Amino acid sequence: MPFNIDHIRDDFPALDQLIYGNYLVYLDNAASTLKTRGVIEAVKRHYKKETANIHRGAHFLSEQGTIRYEETRKALVDFINAKGPEEIIFTKGTTESINLVASSFGRKFLKEGDEVLLSTLEHHSNIVPWQLLRDQVGIKIVEIPINDKGEIIIEEYKRLLNPKVKFVSVTHISNALGTINPIKEMIALAHAQGARFLVDAAQSIAHDKVDVQELDCDFLAFSSHKMFGPTGLGVLYGKEEILEEMPPYQGGGDMIDLVTFEKTTWNTLPHKFEAGTPHIAGVIALKEAINYIEEIGMGNIMKQEHALLQYATQELSKIEGLRIIGTSEHKSAIISFVIDGLHHSDIGQILDKQGIAVRTGHHCTQPLMKHFGITGTVRASFAFYNTLHEIDQLVAGIKKAKAML
Ligand code: PMP
Repeated sequence: MPFNIDHIRDDFPALDQLIYGNYLVYLDNAASTLKTRGVIEAVKRHYKKETANIHRGAHFLSEQGTIRYEETRKALVDFINAKGPEEIIFTKGTTESINLVASSFGRKFLKEGDEVLLSTLEHHSNIVPWQLLRDQVGIKIVEIPINDKGEIIIEEYKRLLNPKVKFVSVTHISNALGTINPIKEMIALAHAQGARFLVDAAQSIAHDKVDVQELDCDFLAFSSHKMFGPTGLGVLYGKEEILEEMPPYQGGGDMIDLVTFEKTTWNTLPHKFEAGTPHIAGVIALKEAINYIEEIGMGNIMKQEHALLQYATQELSKIEGLRIIGTSEHKSAIISFVIDGLHHSDIGQILDKQGIAVRTGHHCTQPLMKHFGITGTVRASFAFYNTLHEIDQLVAGIKKAKAML
């Protein structure tokens, strides 16, 4: 599909609305992306005509639903280049995917004194599950430091890797700064030490190429709502041989083979990790989002978002007193900034009144904010449907906020 921005914007109905009398300028894509018409229609169609539970019904709609649910799984296999559907587990989101690994893999394979490496860049979702595990089994969490550009210091990472390190869990792209981490290299280094590696792909799945076989990661977590799909749904990829060895995360319907009061046996992968009725409508609609990304093409998406990043960096840098936090050369289209003497939430509120949606605060990365000695930033995060004109509107909005405050 040729990259036609007008047609693309037409596919996202949320863009066609006024907020406080101005057309929405949506620059909060790192928090959640807008939904395509196809996704919205698929959710509507499911509840209108196709409602049924899956995997166990003996009637038409149930069978139909099961087929469509599993079709999304197959689409995801291709999308991230997994080896097969056994390796794709549906969860509630990145957060649940990481909790699943920390809980199931962690409690079986990690023991007191084992080290888990996490970087300063991590989202709370990739810190707290490991702290819960630490309280249960006594692992030690070690922080991989970053430099003042917001980049992981690879020499420090190499120094920290030692035989006690059994697990490394790092984000592909920082949600707060946009830094793209050299995860392929980091994974190879971890494996050379015999450690497993989880990639938090929440911010990369819709903005960068993600190929699990090329990366050779052991686990990869992401959320549907950050890739134009429904909320309340996510994915955990895991290598089949590792998932096979892991105990179930939750118990309930669908994840069992045989239940007696004495003993229960588990269903095969991936169902072993999908207890209870899942987000059926969400899963079915996610396929529309995957199709959409594939139609536009990740190459085109990256090109457009890179142009937005460059222009926004250039224009924002011209504003007096504005400091961009996170200045790596390898960045995704996310810009965090502070302005001398102004509070981030005040700027956010004034932008909001002009119909410009940004995120302010710590972005669920308090250790990272501490590193920079700040309480929060204003964050503008872009998707391929954003335009240079919207960046001009952002710049004008910030100037207005400065004048008012
Ligand atoms: N990790 C990163 C890097 C994120 O950006 C987010 C969402 N902000 C999460 C994890 C958590 O994702 P979710 O809330 O969808 O579970």
